[in-house]
Amino acid sequence: MERKVDVAIIGAGTAGINAMSEVRKVTDRFVMIDGGVLGTTCARVGCMPSKVLIQIADDYHRRGVFETLGIQSAERLSLDLERSLANLRKLRDGFVGGIIDEVIAPLGNRFIRGHCEFIEPNLLQVDGTNIRAARTVIAAGSRPVVPEPWRRFGDRLLTTDTLFEQRLLPHDVAVVGLGVVGLEIGQALARMGINIVGFDALDRIGGLQDPEVNREAIEIFGRDLPIHLNAEVDLQEANGRLRVEGGGASVVVGGVLLSIGRISNADRLHLDRLGLKLDARGLPPYDEQTLQVEGLPVFIAGDVNDARPVLHEALHEGKVAGYNAARERPVAFRRKAPLVIAFTDPNVCRAGASWADVAADNPVVGQARFAGGREKIMLREEGLIRIYGQPHTGRILGAEMAAPAGEHLAHQLAWAIQQGQTAADLLAMPFYHPAVEETLQKALRDLADRAGAAEGPLAGFQALPA
Ligand SMILES: Cc1cc2nc3c(=O)[nH]c(=O)nc-3n(C[C@H](O)[C@H](O)[C@H](O)COP(=O)(O)OP(=O)(O)OC[C@H]3O[C@@H](n4cnc5c(N)ncnc54)[C@H](O)[C@@H]3O)c2cc1C
Repeated sequence: MERKVDVAIIGAGTAGINAMSEVRKVTDRFVMIDGGVLGTTCARVGCMPSKVLIQIADDYHRRGVFETLGIQSAERLSLDLERSLANLRKLRDGFVGGIIDEVIAPLGNRFIRGHCEFIEPNLLQVDGTNIRAARTVIAAGSRPVVPEPWRRFGDRLLTTDTLFEQRLLPHDVAVVGLGVVGLEIGQALARMGINIVGFDALDRIGGLQDPEVNREAIEIFGRDLPIHLNAEVDLQEANGRLRVEGGGASVVVGGVLLSIGRISNADRLHLDRLGLKLDARGLPPYDEQTLQVEGLPVFIAGDVNDARPVLHEALHEGKVAGYNAARERPVAFRRKAPLVIAFTDPNVCRAGASWADVAADNPVVGQARFAGGREKIMLREEGLIRIYGQPHTGRILGAEMAAPAGEHLAHQLAWAIQQGQTAADLLAMPFYHPAVEETLQKALRDLADRAGAAEGPLAGFQALPA
C-alpha cells in the first residue's frame, strides 16, 4: 500500500508541530509521523519538568537567608522529595496532555504512529507502509548519549529521559557532564538535599567559553556541589552502588545522572538513502537559512540537525522548514541572534557570539560584577558579566555571564545584538532604579569607554539636532 501526500513531517516535537502549522496553511495533504513517546521533548523530559524541579529547589533554598532577614523558624522547613516529584509529574502531564489533545489528536488519520525511515528522497516507510511525499520535513529530535558499556548499570544510571519518572532518588548522586543540563539539574538536586558531586571532561561548566566568567561560575556553583573538571569518568560496580572515578576524585554513589550531551536521531532514518555524502555525525549538507537538504525536496529542523539545540530555535527552524516544504521555491530566512540560558542560580547565559567565536579578533570587553544595589537587597551579590564589542564603534558582538536574573539581561542583549546596536545606543535607553539592569549598564559603560567610540557631547545621552 502506498499513500501519496504533498508533505510528510517526521517527528511530532516542537520543530515538527511548528512545521505542520505552516504546511497546513497551504495544503491538507500532509502527514505527521511519530514513533516515540508523544508530547515533545520539551514538555515531557526537557525544558518544562526541569524548570519545575529548579523552581522547587530555588524556593526551598531561599530559606537559607530567612534568618538574616528576620524570618524565623526556617530550620523547621523540610522538603518531601516524593511529593515534590509527584507535583512535577502532575504539571508535566498537563503540559504533555495539552499537546496530545489539542495538537496531535485533531489530526485524525493525518497523524501516523510508527518508526519512519527513508527508502528514497521521495519515498518513506513507516512500519511497512509506504508514503510517497513530494516534500519531507525531518524533525526527528535527539536522545541522551549513553555509552554502550555503561548500559549494564541499569536503572542506577539516570538520564533526563528517566530522571523525572523516579518516585524517589538515591541520597547521593554523581552528575557526569556539567553542561547546561547537568549544571541546572545538579544544582537543583543539591538544593533539594541530595548529595551531588559533579564531573566534567572539560575545564569549563555550563557551556561557558569565557575563562573569567567560567572561573567565577566554578567558584559559585562549587558552593552547591563539589566539581571535578578535566575528569574523563570511569564507572565501576561497588557492592550494588557505583564507583565514579575521574579527575583524581573517586566517589561511591547510589546513582549517576548522565548528562554528557545528546545525539541526533538522524542515525535511525536511513539518510544514507538520500544519495548525499553524510558528515561524521551522519547528517546531510543543508542550508541553515532555508533548512533545505542540498538539492533535495527535504528539509531538516530542530535538534535533529545538531546545530542549535534549544527550543526557540527548534520552533524557528520548524516554521521555516514547514513554510518552505509547502512551496515550490524555498525562501531564505535570517537567523536570529544566538541566545542560550542555563536556569541555574545565578543564571549562566550567552547572547550573540561566545568568547570562543570572537577572541581571535581582539574585541574590546566591558565587564561588571553583580554587587551592590538591587543585588545587595536580594542578598544575591555574585556573578560577572562580560560583553564583547567591536573596537572603535562599540557595536555589541556577544556576551557571557553568570548573573542573578541573567536570563533577562541576556534577552535584552540578544535583541540589541540582532539589531546591530552599540553600547552607546543601549546607554541612551532608560535604566530603572534599583534594578539588576544597572549592572548591565555598568558593563556597557565600561565597553563604551574602552571602545573609544565618539559619543557626542554627553555620554549616554543622544543630542538632538540644533
Ligand atoms: C533536560 C532538558 C532541558 C531543556 N531545557 C531547555 C530550556 O530550558 N530551554 C530551551 O530552549 N531548550 C531546552 N531544552 C532543549 C529543547 O527541549 C529541545 O531543543 C527541543 O525540545 C527540540 O525539539 P525537536 O522538535 O527538535 O525534537 P523533539 O521534541 O525531541 O521531537 C522529535 C520527535 O521525533 C520523533 N522521532 C524520532 N525519530 C523518529 C523516526 N525515525 N520516526 C518517527 N518519529 C521519530 C520522536 O519520537 C519525537 O517525538 C532542554 C532539553 C533537555 C533534554
